[in-house]
Amino acid sequence: MTQSAKIITRFAPSPSGHLHLGHAYSAKLNYDFARKNGGMFILRIEDIDHLRCKLEYEKSIFEDLHWLGLSWPEPVRRQSEHFDDYQQALSKLREMNLLYPCFCTRKDIKKEIEESSRAPHMPPKMGPEGIIYPGICKKLTQKQIRQKIDDGVPHALRLDMDQALSMIKNPLYWTDLKTGKQKADPALLGDVVLARKDFPTSYHLSVVVDDHLQNITNIIRGQDLYYASHFHRLLQHLLGLKTPIYDHHPLLTTKDGNRLAKRDKSITIKSIRENGVKPDDLDALIQQYL
Ligand code: GLU
Repeated sequence: MTQSAKIITRFAPSPSGHLHLGHAYSAKLNYDFARKNGGMFILRIEDIDHLRCKLEYEKSIFEDLHWLGLSWPEPVRRQSEHFDDYQQALSKLREMNLLYPCFCTRKDIKKEIEESSRAPHMPPKMGPEGIIYPGICKKLTQKQIRQKIDDGVPHALRLDMDQALSMIKNPLYWTDLKTGKQKADPALLGDVVLARKDFPTSYHLSVVVDDHLQNITNIIRGQDLYYASHFHRLLQHLLGLKTPIYDHHPLLTTKDGNRLAKRDKSITIKSIRENGVKPDDLDALIQQYL
């Protein structure tokens, strides 16, 4: 990014439920940062998961954000309309020999982990978000893979992390606005799924492709995605994409320390506005959960 590049931020919700107070906080941080810096704020709809995303929720995202007083350029990018872009990125990684098919079900993975937990010489590998994929399908032979595909066993595509890391000559870095220069540690997440069984991309893949295509300069998102940022830096490098500056904000929690979730109906923006709260009162409300 050059010094003079116009700041572009984005809020990229998935319409898989109504937005809650934490989303309002995140959206406002992005909006205010862009405004303060004479930049632009973009809304993107991350609706690749056709099983969970609903038009009803998408409609309510627009209503909620307008109620908050935010505005953005139209038309809004909806990821479900851009599977070709993600396919191109996957093809590139495939050509680099960095993808392998994974036929595992959750049950297969659970079983493997339970078994390896009982074998003290080979404990399951832990990542910051729990046990990482134990590499079951990485061991399949070409013949076994062909057989499973011929049998119609559904598969996801995973990044071969060891292979990807072996292609990197120098360490990768990214900038976190609060904590400064970070050395990327993408191995933390293991062999991440880049195309799911039920749709041909994943959050990680589509988010880095879109942030690049939309020239996002600053990503402000929740602390829960801090480790994802380490991984996104690797994908950007492999795919030749731009690296934005990141900022990870604290997550809103209830008094008992639980993160706000879309299923908590009481703190959805929809319910807040239906209860007569005014947008100007929102900051005070957010403070109660920070
Ligand atoms: N769709 C993602 C979410 O709602 C966006 C995360 C991000 O900002 O990268 O969590």
